[in-house]
Amino acid sequence: MNIKDLTIKKINEGLKNKKFSASEITKAFFENIKKNDEIIGAYLNLTENLAYSQADQIDIMIAEGKDIGAFSGAPLAIKDNILINGEMATAASKILENYKASYDATVIQKLKKAGAIFLGKTNMDEFAMGASGENSAFKATKNPRDIARVSGGSSSGSAAAVAADMAVAALGSDTGGSIRMPANFCGVVGLKPTYGAVSRFGLIAMASSLDQIGPIAKNVEDAAILFKEICGKDNFDLTSINPLIGEYGDEIINPDFNKIKKLKIGLPKEYFISGLSKETEGAINDVIEKFKNLKIEFCEVSLPHTKYAVPAYYIIVPAEVSANLARFDGIRYAQNNNQQSNLLHTYLKNRGEKFGDEVKRRIILGTFVLSSGYYDAYYAKAQKVRRLIKEDFDKVFDPSADGVDVILTPVSPKPAFKIGEKASDPLQMYLEDIFTSPVNLAGLPAISIPAKTDSLPIGFQLIGKHFREADILGMGRLYENNL
Ligand code: GLN
Repeated sequence: MNIKDLTIKKINEGLKNKKFSASEITKAFFENIKKNDEIIGAYLNLTENLAYSQADQIDIMIAEGKDIGAFSGAPLAIKDNILINGEMATAASKILENYKASYDATVIQKLKKAGAIFLGKTNMDEFAMGASGENSAFKATKNPRDIARVSGGSSSGSAAAVAADMAVAALGSDTGGSIRMPANFCGVVGLKPTYGAVSRFGLIAMASSLDQIGPIAKNVEDAAILFKEICGKDNFDLTSINPLIGEYGDEIINPDFNKIKKLKIGLPKEYFISGLSKETEGAINDVIEKFKNLKIEFCEVSLPHTKYAVPAYYIIVPAEVSANLARFDGIRYAQNNNQQSNLLHTYLKNRGEKFGDEVKRRIILGTFVLSSGYYDAYYAKAQKVRRLIKEDFDKVFDPSADGVDVILTPVSPKPAFKIGEKASDPLQMYLEDIFTSPVNLAGLPAISIPAKTDSLPIGFQLIGKHFREADILGMGRLYENNL
């Protein structure tokens, strides 16, 4: 068994054909983690007991001749802001350093039922704030393709774990690009589902109107398989809806390529700008060429408010952060050894000492933009801009105006940068989100897929209509099948 070649599907088949057992697979992954993760730093915590007991259950079922599901046996890495009952969940923050989750996130519950194996919790930017992985309070995850470079963030460990064969697939979360950016930098696939397609219950919230949980995998098919397991309405998240009605049946996993070939792709002129690196431009052009050879129709489209996405995003996100992170006082969810003379001083000391710089920056900014006298000038205005950005997409996708079905763009202007290169310049870091954050503001699904390159990985992004993951997954499969 070579774990490099394994996919969710191959593991499942191998188990069913008794080529290997679930415990053997689990052991092989832990051995690889122990060999490589000292250098890469993808994991914060391994959940070995849980993993082996999950593997045992599968092996018992197989020994008893019972049917195991199509997902059973997949060894997964889980971002550390997603709760697994009884396991650590730090969101890579000192303020949650000792926190153990007391319940399962809905996605975890679903995956447990489906027979997944959880290998461990992965490193990330603190509370998912960042684009490089360097904002973790514990360590910066290195890019497995070049360890001098960042892995991308905020789901840094999840992408690096998949890229370095330390998990067959992983869960990340994406608020402004955090699944797609690290997938793009590490050379793996990352899907940010439509807002509402996947329950956020049990996800430590950063910005609740934008956060979505999604899969990171080695190929588009595995991303589709994992997505199908986690999506659906959940009574614990009232923003979730059931996308399976009508639209998400079988086509998520088994696309009809004749249908996919009839979809029209739009190229937004605002995304093909002078700041794109030569390598990125070249890689994206090759992808477009490949699709054109498959007789896919292209046209230029315009998303005129694109340039306002980053400024609007960095008003809305801090505003929501300031509210969501108010609950962390160093007393709840933690052992408190910082008791001061009164409660306020205890809070101030805990929050002052245990939040990192980026988290503090956003809490301060967010508190400011929501404060009376500034609310209309900043927060309310940013919400109006958000609406304009959403309307740009609505127009481009409008079928009655001969719109497109899918939009193709780069994921970031350049491939992975060096560790430390942008760490001291938050504005430079925010600009990394230029091509990913508009998608979250509009609530759309988007996927990052590796383009073919000789050197550092470069991804391309496919953006779909609301709840049309099937279109971007199908288009992605078409690309991969014809590589
Ligand atoms: N880089 C973005 C930010 O720092 C995206 C983060 C995310 O999607 N969680 O907010």
